Amino acid sequence: MFEGLQEKLSKAFKTLSGKGKITEKNIKEAIKMVKLSLLEADVNYKVVKEFIAEVTEKATGEEVLKSLTPDQMFIKILRDELIRVMGEKSQLSLVHSPSYIMMVGLQGSGKTTSAAKLANLLKKKGKKTFLVAADTYRPAAIDQLITLGKKIDVPVFYGDRKDPVKIVREAIKEVKDSGYNVVIFDTAGRLHVDDEMMNELEEIKDILNPDEILMVVDAMAGQDAVNSAKIFNERLDVTGYVVTKMDGDARGGVILSIRYITNKPIKFIGVGEKIEDLEEFHPERIASRILG
Ligand code: GDP
Repeated sequence: MFEGLQEKLSKAFKTLSGKGKITEKNIKEAIKMVKLSLLEADVNYKVVKEFIAEVTEKATGEEVLKSLTPDQMFIKILRDELIRVMGEKSQLSLVHSPSYIMMVGLQGSGKTTSAAKLANLLKKKGKKTFLVAADTYRPAAIDQLITLGKKIDVPVFYGDRKDPVKIVREAIKEVKDSGYNVVIFDTAGRLHVDDEMMNELEEIKDILNPDEILMVVDAMAGQDAVNSAKIFNERLDVTGYVVTKMDGDARGGVILSIRYITNKPIKFIGVGEKIEDLEEFHPERIASRILG
């Protein structure tokens, strides 16, 4: 496993010559280990290849800082590059009043839960927040959001419970001139990406012209999560991702892959089933997790 990569790298460098400099030769063994570890962390194969090529280029010929050994230097370059690729900590861009946030994603990803978690987080920051239950596809989703809304004391609009586009239109009327700062729309997912869902989401996007379109993806879904993140972005031009279930075994490779492939920011991380279990994304923390 990735645990102990640091020790492994240290050994690899010790058996090699050319102590003061990181050379093509002494880096080879280390690169092999890093490659394996990234794959184990569920980073997409293509991303691993490109990422490793970048790190190798950056590291080769690099003078080792006086305070560091070559392996520490290599880890530092690797870590800095991971953080750079995963991007800055990214804030929500909420410029309208009210601002609209559209939550999208496949069924089971944690979309409804994340909508409520985000409402809770924004409410705690002093925003007057409103939730709209437009996931008419998954039978329990609307009642689930109503229950969560009660828990955090945020109103939930659900209209006729049947027609998502109608619910969205009515919700807009409901919040007009109401003083709400943020309205979060939970939309319907499907088990797999399909045209019916995408058409519905595009229609809702056109109506809302949302400040944020956040796609929720399950970190445990591995490459499937990366593939659907790519397709949703191509169709909807999402503004960011919420990666859930990071409290499980997932090492975070999905995060690196999504960021690398879509070039869109990861905005939040889901770290449990409770309403408070949503964190802003910190690339340094995920880099540490990927590096073990
Ligand atoms: P939706 O179909 O995408 O709306 O999915 P739900 O919001 O109903 O979530 C599906 C399941 O994942 C539920 O049992 C949630 O409690 C759980 N879940 C959501 N986010 C997280 C998370 O960050 N960590 C864990 N462990 N479970 C989560």
